[in-house]
Amino acid sequence: MSEATPLDMIKTSLDQAKQRLELAQDSDDLEAWRLEVLGRQGSVTAMMRGIGELPPEIRKEFGKQVNLARKQLESAYEDATANINTGNHSSDALDATLPGTPTLRGGLHPITVVRRQILDVFTRLGFTTVEGPEVEQDSYNFGKLRIPADHPARDMWDTFWLNEQNSDEKLLLRTHTSPMQIRYMEDHPTPPIRIAVPGRCYRYEATDATHEWMLEQVELLAIDKGITLANLKGTLQEWARQMFGAKRKIMMRHSYFPFVEPGVEVAIDCFKCDGSERDCGICRGSGWLELLGAGMVHPDIIRDAGYDPTIYTGFAAGMGVERIAMVLQGVTDIRHYHSNRFSFLSQF
Ligand SMILES: [Zn+2]
Repeated sequence: MSEATPLDMIKTSLDQAKQRLELAQDSDDLEAWRLEVLGRQGSVTAMMRGIGELPPEIRKEFGKQVNLARKQLESAYEDATANINTGNHSSDALDATLPGTPTLRGGLHPITVVRRQILDVFTRLGFTTVEGPEVEQDSYNFGKLRIPADHPARDMWDTFWLNEQNSDEKLLLRTHTSPMQIRYMEDHPTPPIRIAVPGRCYRYEATDATHEWMLEQVELLAIDKGITLANLKGTLQEWARQMFGAKRKIMMRHSYFPFVEPGVEVAIDCFKCDGSERDCGICRGSGWLELLGAGMVHPDIIRDAGYDPTIYTGFAAGMGVERIAMVLQGVTDIRHYHSNRFSFLSQF
């Protein structure tokens, strides 16, 4: 067995250095290894210095091989540093044969999709989208909308109060988007006004398949000279056709909301069965779907806003986005929307 040549020595120390590098557990180990191998007193540097003592015929080849080895070791050191910095302690942790980690594709929440559909239609009809505060003052949520403290209509909205009942201005989580009607009118001394107000509302009530404590609404307000119930009907009719299909009809029935006179409840004819199916999952055979409340803005509210109610009239409407989303998306329990369940959300 012949004696190891100087070139064999390079290969041996290269292999040994690589093996020791694999044992490094943290950055302290790495630094110790670097000093020992690549540092000024390190083994690779020592080999470079030793070139002069070699027989001249192998100096050139020896120098080339040591340089090559140094490059390999520097590169292995960089890889080991990167692995330790990413918490990956083994230098062979990258297994290219494993399947990749799937990247989940994000999407819009189903309620966001429907809110945007609703607003898109109203934008085309000339309404500007504005938003109001979710923490609201008692006076805007109730008083200025003709719902005084002892008014029975307050029972409709069991409320999340945010401060003491006897404070000067009680704060609450708004129960509807209607306060923004008042805020917008106060900020705009001269009509015309055409706004759509989307936003979350909160009601302190028990939840079931059709009730949630948090809901989204879209509010409409139009104030101008000569606005009548016919304008309200035409606007909602066009909205219903663009949302639910060109053949849709709407039906208005009298209802009561303190801030409108007259008030109406608005239904559309069933787009699934036209009223022909007794067990229709959407209209339950009635042929109609109640979708929203609306009415002509009460003259007192127009006057309180600083407009002359003998010149200006207007209409308002409010709709629940979840209710419309359930109808459009065939969802039977409103609680799914905010359950954060991926199995539900990934269907949209
Ligand atoms: Zn039906």
